[in-house]
Amino acid sequence: MLDAVLLAGEPTQSGIASATGLAPATVSNIVRHLVTTGSLTATTTVRGGRRVRAVRLVPPAGFVAGVDFGHRHGRVGLAPAADTVPGAAAGSPEPPPTLLAEVGADLPGGHGVDDGLDTAAALLDEALGAAGVAPAELRGVGIGLPAPVDVRSGAVGEPGILPGWVGVEAAARATARLGVPVAVDNDALLGTLAEQAWGALTGVRDAIYLKLSDGVGAGLVLDGRPYRGRAGTAGEIGHVVVADDAGGPTGGPGRTVCRCGNRGCLETWASTTTVVGLLEPLLGRPLAIAEVVARARGGHAPSRRVLADTGGHVGRALGGLCSVLTPARVVVGGELAQAGDLLIGPLQAALERWALPGAAEGVQVVPARLGARAHVFGAVALAGELVLAARG
Ligand SMILES: [Zn+2]
Repeated sequence: MLDAVLLAGEPTQSGIASATGLAPATVSNIVRHLVTTGSLTATTTVRGGRRVRAVRLVPPAGFVAGVDFGHRHGRVGLAPAADTVPGAAAGSPEPPPTLLAEVGADLPGGHGVDDGLDTAAALLDEALGAAGVAPAELRGVGIGLPAPVDVRSGAVGEPGILPGWVGVEAAARATARLGVPVAVDNDALLGTLAEQAWGALTGVRDAIYLKLSDGVGAGLVLDGRPYRGRAGTAGEIGHVVVADDAGGPTGGPGRTVCRCGNRGCLETWASTTTVVGLLEPLLGRPLAIAEVVARARGGHAPSRRVLADTGGHVGRALGGLCSVLTPARVVVGGELAQAGDLLIGPLQAALERWALPGAAEGVQVVPARLGARAHVFGAVALAGELVLAARG
């Protein structure tokens, strides 16, 4: 029922009854209960010439934090809990939550759950200190992980993708370590939720959100709802095999074994690690993606080539997915999204080359509106949901 109120903004009791399929008397009882607990306000008003009871959510007090874990970094954003509740009717563009503090730190590749949670705890302290918020005011934390997460059990699955976390009931472990209620979900799915709430997917019913970073993943929106699959493993486009030992997508040699154990996964062709790995030998020093993009924009041919090929590899894998799912929009997020047209142009061309022509027609490929912050915003939104559900 809270979902129905969240979606509609300020629905009437009869509107909630038709949206949820609950009997009007049941809705009336639940509303009365939620008004006494302080979750809802109900007012009598006139709509269409009739007196009706309209219901609104009371914004939660306190603050929430979102934690975005990559394979090699952790990032924390702190926001007022009230900012995670949409204030107006569905479909109207809302600003994303105000981040009062945003801090990050590097993590060793293949880090374990204890290292990760220690880093998260330190970053949370730093963010609370920077924003001048007392730790007792922190009501909930959302964590995004670059791995499949079974939201029913909170368990991290699929050996190999984030080995240090596999089999861990991450939400319970994090709640114990951080001392506040924690919810955990897949990072690409959180990026999807954030772009749906505040970004490039507002009002789009069929869509794919791509996270192109050190890991490559996707969040799927089917018929207006995020799709998680059987055990949270839906959307792992990074582990779609685009080329095996026999040769690469462009006829090149076979490539490295993927961390999942297969060979030729998209992630071995199109991650940030692959991009810098191809260019570092030429320049003889470590590179960051921002520098690769700056060089490409300045006309550096090898950087342009690598970014274009990366878009091409992603577009090829995406072509198959688009033929099956026929999305209306594809949103490109993650660290590589900063390459913009240098990557998205070749991606769109490859998508059109490899998808069923009817399926590729009209698919808009656009950069994430929330940029690299989409995953932190999604984790903040997840924390907001947790706070609302706990208040129930
Ligand atoms: Zn793989």
